[in-house]
Amino acid sequence: MHQQLPREIDPFRFAHNGVQISGTLPVTSLTRLADKLANTQGDIQVTLQFDVDQTGTPYVEGIFVGQLALLCERCMQAMPFKVEIKSLLALVSHERKIEGLAEQYDPWLLGHSDAVNPADMVEDEIILALPLVPRHEHACLPEDLWSAGEQQIETEKPVSPFAVLSALKTNKEH
Ligand SMILES: [Zn+2]
Repeated sequence: MHQQLPREIDPFRFAHNGVQISGTLPVTSLTRLADKLANTQGDIQVTLQFDVDQTGTPYVEGIFVGQLALLCERCMQAMPFKVEIKSLLALVSHERKIEGLAEQYDPWLLGHSDAVNPADMVEDEIILALPLVPRHEHACLPEDLWSAGEQQIETEKPVSPFAVLSALKTNKEH
C-alpha cells in the first residue's frame, strides 16, 4: 500500500468505468500547505472511488487519512492535526452545471482536459478542512508570556475564510 497516487488521470473516463485508485501522497508534495506546516513529514493515504450515480452524474468519493504537523499560531510550535476527510465530489465540465447538482455533492470543476492531477483536488479538500487559526487546546505558552500572548491575540483582526481561500487560489496560479 505504498504506491504513490497517479499524477495524471482522466476522471470522466474513470467514472464511466467505475475505477478505484488508492495510493499515498507525500506531505512534501502539498506545496500550497507549506507555510502552515511545522514540518513536511509523513504521507496522506488517498482512496478515490469513481462512479456514475443513478441520475447519470459522474462523481468521486474520496477518503484521505493521515497526520499533519500544523504550526500553532500562539507558540509557533508543531501541533499534530489528524486528517480524516471524506469527500463526495461531482465531476463538472463547466461552471454552468454546478447549479443543477444534487445537494450531497460539492463540485470538482475539471473543464475539458483529459489529464488531471488528483493531488491538486486532494490538497484543496485538505485546505478546506484545516482550522482557520491553528492553536493548541492547552495553554502552550510559558506562564509569564501567557497574558501578553492572549492580549495580542485578542487585538488581531478576524480573518474571513473567503480571504484565506482567495489567497490560496492566488498562490496556486503562480
Ligand atoms: Zn501552541
